[in-house]
Amino acid sequence: MNINATLINLYHVCQRECWLHTNGINMEHTSDTVYDGKLLHETSYPQRAEKYTEIELSAVLNDEIILTGKIDFYDAKEKIIHETKRSDKIEEAHEWQVKYYIWLLELNGIEDVEAILEYPTLRHKNLVKLSEADKQHLLSIIRNIAQLKVSDNCPPKINAKICKSCSYYELCYIDE
Ligand code: SF4
Repeated sequence: MNINATLINLYHVCQRECWLHTNGINMEHTSDTVYDGKLLHETSYPQRAEKYTEIELSAVLNDEIILTGKIDFYDAKEKIIHETKRSDKIEEAHEWQVKYYIWLLELNGIEDVEAILEYPTLRHKNLVKLSEADKQHLLSIIRNIAQLKVSDNCPPKINAKICKSCSYYELCYIDE
């Protein structure tokens, strides 16, 4: 079974969204937010691709779960991951996404990495570190995501503000 950074992020936003995504129901191609995010990466720091490395990582957990992640901008010299986001509305999910990257690097023998979450349109940055308690949390939610992946039951709607900008909004609320 594969678990990636997107699922770690989505799990912290909405378990229903995580379930829909992991069951192959993808509506991101219709989402302006996703397009917007991609554009932000390309336009905010145009020289970034030359300075930092893009790396793809994987690790096997308990011989059964394959963890994967792709870090777009890694500064190998300073051991810093740079992750750019537009809005800090789901900052907690962003934090867990980069903590997962730090942990994946650690599982591959690269220790003492930190991450900087960058919100260029808000002129806001957040330094993220990984603690032992964070690793326990990641292990626990990976178990939960693994259960979600094999479950036939779609979790309930969360009726939150964030729903309005979710690519599944119409699917969740169209009949209401
Ligand atoms: S619209 Fe709301 S309830 Fe539905 S998947 Fe998105 S965040 Fe979850």
